[in-house]
Amino acid sequence: MTKGRTRAKKVSCEDCFFRKNMLCALSCEQPCATFRPDSPEGLRPPQQMRFHFRQERRTQVSWALPTAQEQAALHA
Ligand code: SF4
Repeated sequence: MTKGRTRAKKVSCEDCFFRKNMLCALSCEQPCATFRPDSPEGLRPPQQMRFHFRQERRTQVSWALPTAQEQAALHA
């Protein structure tokens, strides 16, 4: 069982893609909200959410009308 969120690594402007590629126009003391980690692959988009499709299918819907056989048995 996991114990909540792991602590995020402290980042600095020295690790930022924009600073390393001289694309940062800010003169902040601390990393800003646009911080993006520098990696050998370059600037990577954030990971997208994944779709998970249900494997099971409903075989009977709750609003279905009874079949003729069920109606006949009900009123027999
Ligand atoms: S973009 Fe923000 S986090 Fe990156 S180097 Fe510039 S100020 Fe720092």
